Amino acid sequence: MQHFASDNYAGICPEALRAFLGANEGHAPAYGDDEWTRRVSERLRKLFATDCDVYFVFNGTAANSLALASLCQSYHSVICHELAHVATDECGGPEFFSNGSKLLPARGVGGKLTPDGVLEVIARRSDIHYPKPRVVTLTQATEVGTLYHPSEVAAIAELAHGKGLRVHMDGARFANAVASLGVSPADITWRAGVDVLCFGGTKMGLPMGEAVVFFDRRLSEDFAWRCKQAGQLASKMRFLAAPWLGILEDDAWLHHARHANAMAQRLAAGLASVPGAELLFPVEANGVFANLPAAVLDGLRVRGWRYYTFIGAGGARFMCAWDTRPESVDALLKDIRALSV
Ligand SMILES: *Cc1c(COP(=O)(O)O)cnc(C)c1O
Repeated sequence: MQHFASDNYAGICPEALRAFLGANEGHAPAYGDDEWTRRVSERLRKLFATDCDVYFVFNGTAANSLALASLCQSYHSVICHELAHVATDECGGPEFFSNGSKLLPARGVGGKLTPDGVLEVIARRSDIHYPKPRVVTLTQATEVGTLYHPSEVAAIAELAHGKGLRVHMDGARFANAVASLGVSPADITWRAGVDVLCFGGTKMGLPMGEAVVFFDRRLSEDFAWRCKQAGQLASKMRFLAAPWLGILEDDAWLHHARHANAMAQRLAAGLASVPGAELLFPVEANGVFANLPAAVLDGLRVRGWRYYTFIGAGGARFMCAWDTRPESVDALLKDIRALSV
C-alpha cells in the first residue's frame, strides 16, 4: 500500500540507486575530495548556469539551519512565513545553530510571504532591543503546496536586499516547483535574487541528502567548518553525492517531479466531485490539502491510510511522491467516496 503522509515515505528512485551503487567501487578519497562530489558540484553549477558553491548535508533541517546560521550573527533575526518548516518543524535547529538568531514569523495567504508582509516585520522596530532582521527565508514549493513565481521571489528579494537582508530559499520540494512552473532553475533562484538555496534531494527520490547552494560565494566562507562541527560532513561523501548524478542525468529529477505533481492534480480533480470535500489551497505542486468530514478522516485511518492533519480542524494533507501510482490515488479516492456517503 502506498501512503500519502509525506513524499519521504517513498523509496529511492532507480536513477539515484544505480548511481549510488555505481559509486561503490574500490577506494576513493573521503570528506568530499572524491570524483563524484566534484562532478555533481560541476553538474549543479551547469544546471544553475553560474559559478555557485555547493555543499552536501544529510537532511533538510541541517541544510536550512546551517545555511541560515551562515547568514546571521546571533543578534540577527530571520523573517519567515508563520507556517515555514524552519519555524514549525525543525525543533529550534536554526536558532540553535545560529547561537540564538530569532525567527520572526510573518503572515501571508496561501503559505506565501509578500513584500508588504516582510516590510511590516522589518519596519516594526529598529531599536537596539529588537533582533535585527538579516534574512528572509522563502519555502519553494511552500508548506501548503503553493508556489512563488519568479516575479514574486524577485519582488521580495528586491525589498530584502534594499534593506540589507539576505534571501534564503528552503527548496525541500524545489524539484516540484521547477517542474510545475516550467522555469529554469536560475530564473527562480539567483536571477530572482536568492542568495542561498537548500536544494532538497530526499523528497525528490534520493536515499538522503540535500545540497546547499551558495550563489553568493562570499556567504559560504567557513561553511565547510560549520558542517563538520554540526556532524554534517559525510566522511564517505561520494555516497551522498553520487545519487545526484543519477537523478540530474537526462532531467530525471524533473520527470519524477512532474509525475508527482500530476498525481496531486489527479487527486484534486477526484476530490472536486466528493460531497463535503473542500480544497484548502490551490494545488500547484505535489501536495493536496483538503477539508474532509471527520467521519471520512477517521474512516481512512481505519482503512490503513496514513496522512497528516496539521492545519486547522478537519484539514488533511496528502503528498504525492515520484513513485505514486495512479491506482493508489484512485484507491484513496474510492475510499474517500465510500466514506462520504
Ligand atoms: C521535508 C522538509 C524539510 C527537510 O526536513 P528533514 O526531515 O530535516 O530532511 C525542510 N523544509 C520543508 C518545507 C520540508 O517539507
